[in-house]
Amino acid sequence: MNQPYIDLRSDTVTKPSPAMRAAMADAEVGDDVIDIDPTTERLQQLTADLLGKEAAIFMPSGSMTNQIAVRIHCKPGDEFLCDAGCHIYNYEQAAFAQLSGVAARTVEGEGGVLQVDQLRGLIRPNNEHMVRTRMVTLENTHNRGGGRIQPLETVQHICHWAHSNGLRTHLDGARLLNAVAATGIDAATWSACFDTVSVCFSKGLGAPVGSALAGPREMIQEARRHRKLFGGGMRQCGIIAAGALYALDHNRERLVEDHEKAQILAEGVRQAEGLTLTPDTIDTNIVIFRVDPQVATAAEFVSRLKDENVLALSTSLTHIRLVTHLDVTREQCQLVTNVLARLTDSFKRRSRTSSVLNSVT
Ligand SMILES: *Cc1c(COP(=O)(O)O)cnc(C)c1O
Repeated sequence: MNQPYIDLRSDTVTKPSPAMRAAMADAEVGDDVIDIDPTTERLQQLTADLLGKEAAIFMPSGSMTNQIAVRIHCKPGDEFLCDAGCHIYNYEQAAFAQLSGVAARTVEGEGGVLQVDQLRGLIRPNNEHMVRTRMVTLENTHNRGGGRIQPLETVQHICHWAHSNGLRTHLDGARLLNAVAATGIDAATWSACFDTVSVCFSKGLGAPVGSALAGPREMIQEARRHRKLFGGGMRQCGIIAAGALYALDHNRERLVEDHEKAQILAEGVRQAEGLTLTPDTIDTNIVIFRVDPQVATAAEFVSRLKDENVLALSTSLTHIRLVTHLDVTREQCQLVTNVLARLTDSFKRRSRTSSVLNSVT
């Protein structure tokens, strides 16, 4: 009989638990486009409080919360500064260009972490040949940076610099609550220096759908207008908001367990010959590693993992990402480390055999 897959492709693969489904089924609802849905309203208030902002607005995805943040902060012909590896730039179809006529200027961060000194001098002069620099966006934790937590002081320096130069600031906090769980620094402290912050309920928190954008009341009212324009107005969305509320109430503190499971996987990668952690330390729930091209391509390795009932994603020709979440156990992570050892071993034997053959022929 086939074993079920151990799915480490993303922390979005989690399925709502029976208790979460019950909360969703029981949700009180209303038409959130005509006026308000009471459950969504509760979620928005709770999220705003959590992030220390005046207001928050519920949306179907993190791509939408990010892109509506771009939309409310920037006008056509404006530009924002961001790290070259960030989600807004790489994984949202350049929606800032497609939907808002906005340009991005990327700066190479170290594991996704930018320093204020890299940004100084990048604000364009007021000159009709040039775009207008309007905003800085940061991402915490950083996905392509391997779940990297941005140092708080570094973040504060950048925001302070941005604001004193008349720029807006937005935080892509899809996994901000992982940073909170890992550091003990609360979400409001992480969010304080940003104008707007987006968070996802459908990542490590385990809700099936949804994100929120938080900020000053006026900006969030403006965001509501653009949410409608982008097709994100949802009617009885209390049903999904209830899943997100349940996730905030029950799945926040347990995120540290996902981080512990990531450490198990990381140790497995360290022990496997031909695999290298990139970065070499793991802050939260994402483990990215390089496969020595002598051993296999990333795609080949992912396909062999699948034969062993382990699902992973390749992020480049040479790199693979594993993400822990609430539907994967410690024991399963231990099992995956055994698989990593076995696979690298067999690839090694194969390459040794083929080099022997090559030297014979
Ligand atoms: C997942 C993610 C998002 C939003 O993705 P959606 O699939 O649109 O909800 C935004 N930023 C980061 C860093 C993410 O990992």
